[in-house]
Amino acid sequence: MTGGGFAAINARKTECAHGHPLSGENLLPNKQGYRICAACQRASLAKSREKARARRSQAREDNDGMLPVANALKKAEARFHDSYTRNEYDECWPWHGSFLSTGYGRFNILGTTIPAPRAMRLLISGDLPPSVLVCHTCDNRRCVNPYHLFLGSVQDNVDDMIRKGRKVVRRGSTSLKAKIREDDVHSIRQSKESAADLARKYGVTPGAVWHIRQRHTWAHLTDQEGQ
Ligand SMILES: [Zn+2]
Ligand SMILES: [Zn+2]
Repeated sequence: MTGGGFAAINARKTECAHGHPLSGENLLPNKQGYRICAACQRASLAKSREKARARRSQAREDNDGMLPVANALKKAEARFHDSYTRNEYDECWPWHGSFLSTGYGRFNILGTTIPAPRAMRLLISGDLPPSVLVCHTCDNRRCVNPYHLFLGSVQDNVDDMIRKGRKVVRRGSTSLKAKIREDDVHSIRQSKESAADLARKYGVTPGAVWHIRQRHTWAHLTDQEGQ
């Protein structure tokens, strides 16, 4: 073969750029028919394997030896706990990050935005199906105190409504299961006491107090009645 093309030059070479002989066991024809130095090829492969190993070990170091997602979660958790004021257990813990238009704190985690109270419950329980609602006993949307949060389902609310008479003929204190009377409802709605205190006083759950105040239950009672 004659000529000045790469193939021709390659075909005439007797040794590689590093002086290894291009003959015998060290001659390695590649798929295109070029003659390659087996020693240099081995060295090059070893070098790229070494580089990949170094990249992986650097990544592990950057992630404190954890998987990247686990590390992102750990960092998000630290950021979360830096975003509110941790007061006494019976006080509200106000969020001081950014807020959603609904008034709840806004928290971003792994590219998803969730309300801060929900994030608090998620960090505590590790799992929270979308059908489970996170509600406040303190009516303070900025609050992320886990002691002021309780879980409820949409079905709970519906059951509660039916039981309290919104969807059946029996209403309010004429309902068989009613624990509190209509004037209690007015007192609860006007009271400045915490939901926990009122719950103890009336023998109901803080969640029930919250639902009364939000008018999810006893909605048929207007503020004028009984005043
Ligand atoms: Zn070589
Ligand atoms: Zn609170």
